[in-house]
Amino acid sequence: MASNPADRTGFGRGQAVPDESRALPATEEVKATTCYMCACRCGIKVHLKNGRIRYIEGNRDHPVNRGVLCAKGASGAMQHYSPARLTKPLKRVGERGSGEFEEIEWDEALALATGRLSEIRETDPRKLAFFTGRDQSQALTGWWAQMFGTPNYAAHGGFCSVNMAAAGLYTLGGAFWEFGEPDWDHSKYLLLFGVAEDHGSNPIKRGLAKLKARGAKILSINPIRTGYSAIADEWLGIRPGSDGLFILALIHELLSAGKVDLDFLAQTTNAPWLVIRDEGAADDGLFARDGDGNPLVWDRKAETLRPLAEACETPALKGEVTLPDGRKAVPSFELLARRCLDPAYAPEKVAERCGIEAATIRRIAAELAEVAFEQALVFDQPWTDWAGRRHNKMVGRPVSVHAMRGISAHSNGFHTCRILHLLQVLLGAIDTPGSFRYKPPYPKPAPPPVKPTGRPDQVKAGAPLPGPPLGFPRGPEDLLIDSEGRPQRIDKAFSWDAPLANHGMMHSVITNAYNGDPYPIDTLFMYMANMAWNSAMNTAGTMKMLSDKDPETGEYKIPHIIYADAYYSEMVAYADLVLPDTTYLERWDCMSLLDRPISEADGPADSIRRPVVAPDRDVRPFQDVLLDLGVRLGLPGFVAEGGAPKYPGGYADYLVNHERQPGVGSLAGWRGAGGKSAGLGAPNPAQLERYIENGCYWHQVLPPEHRYFRHVNRGYLDYAAEMKFIGAAEPVFLQLYCEDLQRFRLAARGHGEVRPPADKAERIEAYFDPLPLWYPPFEDEVTGAADYPLSALTQRPMSMYHSWGGQNAWLRQIMGANRLYVPRAVMAEAGLKDDDWAWVISRHDRVKARVRGMDGVSDKVVWTWNAIGKRAGAWNLAKDVPEATTGFLLNHVIDELLPARDDGYRYANADPVTGQAAWFDLRVRLEPAAPDEAALTSPFFEPVQRPRGLPEAAGELRYGAEFREPEDPA
Ligand code: SF4
Repeated sequence: MASNPADRTGFGRGQAVPDESRALPATEEVKATTCYMCACRCGIKVHLKNGRIRYIEGNRDHPVNRGVLCAKGASGAMQHYSPARLTKPLKRVGERGSGEFEEIEWDEALALATGRLSEIRETDPRKLAFFTGRDQSQALTGWWAQMFGTPNYAAHGGFCSVNMAAAGLYTLGGAFWEFGEPDWDHSKYLLLFGVAEDHGSNPIKRGLAKLKARGAKILSINPIRTGYSAIADEWLGIRPGSDGLFILALIHELLSAGKVDLDFLAQTTNAPWLVIRDEGAADDGLFARDGDGNPLVWDRKAETLRPLAEACETPALKGEVTLPDGRKAVPSFELLARRCLDPAYAPEKVAERCGIEAATIRRIAAELAEVAFEQALVFDQPWTDWAGRRHNKMVGRPVSVHAMRGISAHSNGFHTCRILHLLQVLLGAIDTPGSFRYKPPYPKPAPPPVKPTGRPDQVKAGAPLPGPPLGFPRGPEDLLIDSEGRPQRIDKAFSWDAPLANHGMMHSVITNAYNGDPYPIDTLFMYMANMAWNSAMNTAGTMKMLSDKDPETGEYKIPHIIYADAYYSEMVAYADLVLPDTTYLERWDCMSLLDRPISEADGPADSIRRPVVAPDRDVRPFQDVLLDLGVRLGLPGFVAEGGAPKYPGGYADYLVNHERQPGVGSLAGWRGAGGKSAGLGAPNPAQLERYIENGCYWHQVLPPEHRYFRHVNRGYLDYAAEMKFIGAAEPVFLQLYCEDLQRFRLAARGHGEVRPPADKAERIEAYFDPLPLWYPPFEDEVTGAADYPLSALTQRPMSMYHSWGGQNAWLRQIMGANRLYVPRAVMAEAGLKDDDWAWVISRHDRVKARVRGMDGVSDKVVWTWNAIGKRAGAWNLAKDVPEATTGFLLNHVIDELLPARDDGYRYANADPVTGQAAWFDLRVRLEPAAPDEAALTSPFFEPVQRPRGLPEAAGELRYGAEFREPEDPA
């Protein structure tokens, strides 16, 4: 591999970088790329003067943001020039956590990493745990893990919003944000549930502006009225963890009034599919099928059974049917209706728990019905359905929804998210005009046909896994467990603890590795994951686990830690070997259709980042480092014949030339000879140049006939299959009733070859319900309401994203220290005044914070901004900055485990279906701090040292002065 860092970033490749400077002075130029100040991936233009970043503007042509730029995006210069940037590979010389390192050369760093990893791979690949944070190259990192042969891979989704993604993918074959969005141009009513302000930040702002301009109603359901909730037409301060109950009450009302879209249900969902009712049988609760596996429906007109493939025009949605073998079956819709019409879900019954009056619930249900059915949209757009039937019009239900982390980060989050999708499906508000719209390459089959790998027979020394580490189990036989039912991944994803852990369980890795449960590992390899601070629950415990030694051997309990990051985050001090990454403006990146693209509802889109400035430090893009390690380890796919690097030009080379299957690569635009193909085609050596010429994105707009009903739209499905978005042009029926969940439940009842151990069967039986299910968050059950009467939440400010934003010199001026926001009645009851210090006490620990009274918050909720509090000395900030002294981190009081069962076993503090971290289940009480305690946040950890190579933190920010012309006024 080339050793010149400039070569690795593309500057040394002789590539033509077009002059985008228009009529700028010769010293100035403009380069388009993609923002990475949060996860939204807006198009930006970076203005440079004398090779330095002068300012950043939004790219007005870009499909994601159309020129809109937020405070974070505009502050990219401060991210790039941050004094916290790492400057050279580091080897730990002090104790873990001390921040004592020596600088080493890349050759030594890569040799050290290769030595460790090579030994693991040749003996037991599972001993490597490779986890990445909010990285946007998971198509590469996941493939690397697969080729290495370890199942222990995941990114941050398990502790972010996997419930939202999993519920969407198992129910709709799509999901919010990257895989779908509201029909901003036509929707008349938007429900926003618990939205974090980073997932779709600028796109949501643009969308909300459109709704406001049209007079559409925006209803925010969120315990806290900040951000988008502040401009909503109506705000409902719901109690945390009760969203599913609230939505069930809406469904109860709609079903009671007959306000559901029966045609939509009959033709595009599994509502008419017959469910076997044979208590005790091995197929009880599964769909009745013909000999070819086709689900059966009852044709109420012809009074006969029909396989789904016959596209019955008049399938029954209710009534018991006798199957040919004499057993009974009912349409799944009848089971769902029975469940939701249960009096337990009447508005009066849920009002107290939700903190929303019954009359309000009834009114909202009536409003939804009125908009969906009395204000239906009718587009004069013919289209053909999956069975070849031609329709003259597209009829839409203009009710749309967006939700994210707020409703999903609970132990009941998966089912809550599913219930929300069921509401949309019942209204006929999936990919119809005015409702939720898929973003190609979605919809995919529900769930996508990818199974996780990592069973004992699939992990072999010195060999790759036969498939990806992450996927979508359809039943117990897809779990990654051994013959005794024991987890095979270090995080216990895809085990009986969390069978549908589609994004892994990064939040469990350190605890499990420390405990050697289910087995000890050798090396923890992480990328941009601040697990010693704001990405971990039980922060103090996590730091201890990272630095604890085995008293008998004197060795660290987690033997080796390799960490890659661009910045001196709190996690760096715990690494043995630090691989410094570049900033987002110094490297190639790719938002791929293979992973998490930037598609719009009107068509697929992907994008790149390209280096706009050359690194001035001895750092390398992590993706290049990963490719380099792949070569050094001899991983299949990374080396050509003879052992030479397959992608000698680094990540840029990989982006252009790597093919996942013939004709399918990282980027869909400008493929094939001359770059004339879209989606499919041979690698095109000039592909990146074409992207750069086009503002670093590719976007294909679908014809109007393919823009709605895509789950059952013949023309779209044929196109999607041709583009290899889906394996075959088969319809994606929406899964009101989730048969996959029932398969797990049957196993818990003793059926099938793969069954849960006796001590876990009851939990599987309880939570793998194929129908909508609401249960109180686990924390409600294990902590007494009398001792811990308040829910405690975090919100992400619009001006910051994770801990990266909290160290940015410009963004810190917006917020340098957080407060705990408290309902005024709770303040008065506790005898607290604004800016008093108080203890926030949970069953796990306590943290000291300054409080402030607030009106726009649910009556039993306290909250704070996320990731503002910093450890003193981290991020190369002065040790006495407000972030470290008066800022605080709520994570300190969240336990990563649930209390022990009688036998001592402790489950993760997570959703039992997906393993999503239940951050928002937290319950606390407040106590005023004593007068002599009112000075400094607590816990206050020993400041970390500034490692060699980082500059002393500047006292005064003078950035920008260098661009002033001599004649400019001072
Ligand atoms: S919303 Fe996110 S990606 Fe877009 S400009 Fe702001 S920080 Fe950048």
